[in-house]
Amino acid sequence: MILDGQKVAIHMAGELDKRIKILKDGGIIPGLAIVLGGSSRPAAMYGAFLKKKAESYGISATVIKKPDSVTEGELIEVIRSLNDNHAIHGILLLMPLPEGISSDNVVEAMDPYKDIDGLTAANRGRLAAGKPGFVPCTPRAVMAILEEYGIAVNGKKAVVLGRSNVVGLPVSLLLLQKHATVTICHSHTGDIAEISRTADILVSAVGKPGMVTADMVKRGAVVIDVGICRQNGKTVGDVETKEVAEKSSYITPVPGGVGAVTTSMMIQALVEAAEKRKNGGSHNE
Ligand code: NAP
Repeated sequence: MILDGQKVAIHMAGELDKRIKILKDGGIIPGLAIVLGGSSRPAAMYGAFLKKKAESYGISATVIKKPDSVTEGELIEVIRSLNDNHAIHGILLLMPLPEGISSDNVVEAMDPYKDIDGLTAANRGRLAAGKPGFVPCTPRAVMAILEEYGIAVNGKKAVVLGRSNVVGLPVSLLLLQKHATVTICHSHTGDIAEISRTADILVSAVGKPGMVTADMVKRGAVVIDVGICRQNGKTVGDVETKEVAEKSSYITPVPGGVGAVTTSMMIQALVEAAEKRKNGGSHNE
C-alpha cells in the first residue's frame, strides 16, 4: 500500500487554516523568513517553493538571499536582525552555505524560539531530553505519515539508515519516544542488509539512489523513503520502489511521500511559533 504524503498534507491543511485564522483574528500574521546564503540552485528553488506554499496559507514570507561572497559574520548579522524583528516568527536557513562558512555557527545565532526546523543545539537537546521544543520538520513528517495510516510503532523494531542532525538522528529519537526498538545505521556500519532485514519499520535517509533493494527488506515491513535525489533527470529516493513495494506492506513514494508532508510541517511549526509568542513565548512545559 502506498503511503500518500499528499493525503496527509491535505488533512493537515484544514487544521492549519483554522489555527492561522485564530491568530489573524487576534491581529497576528505569522511571518516566515527564509535565508539563502549563496547561489545553490536547488536551495533557491526550494526557498521559492516554500515562500509560495506559505503565501497560499496567507502567511507573510520573505526570502533573504545573499551572494556566494557572503561572510559568516554577515550571515550571522542577518540571523540576529531576524531574531529582533517582531514580524518574523520563524527562520529557515537553507543549506548548503558557501564553502568556508560554518553552518553550526550560523545556526547557533538563531533564537531557539524562531528555529522552526529544530536545528539549534537548544532544540536538539530538548528533543533528546524529551522536552517540548522545535523538532526538525522531516522527521515529524515521517511520524505524521505513520500516524495518519494507523501504523503501530510501540514495540516494533525500527531501523533508520542515516544519522544526520536534520533527519536520521531526530527520527530515531521520535521512534524511540513512541517505544520502538531503534537501530541506527550509517556510513561506518558493516552489514547494513543484515540489520535492515530485521526491521518492521525501515526509514532510509541517506541520499543514495538504489540504496535499499528488496533483499534488504523483511516481507511485510513498512518502508519510509526520505531520500531525495536526482537521477537521469528524475527525482527519486533511496529505495528501489518497484521491487521493494512487492515485499513491503506499506511504502512511501518519491516524490509524493515524506517531502509532501515536510512543507506542511514547516507551516505547522511556524504557526506554533506564532502561538507560543502570543502565549508568552514558552514551550508550555
Ligand atoms: P546527510 O546529512 O548527507 O546524511 C546522510 C546520512 O547517510 C549520514 O548519516 C551518512 O552517514 C549516511 N550514509 C551515507 N552513505 C551511507 C551508506 N552507504 N550506508 C549507510 N549510511 C550512509 O543527508 P540528510 O540531510 O540527512 O538527508 C538524507 C536524504 O534525505 C537526502 O537525500 C536529502 O535530500 C533527503 N531529505 C529529504 C527531505 C524530505 O522532506 N523528504 C528533507 C531533508 C532531507 P555518516 O553520518 O556516517 O556520514
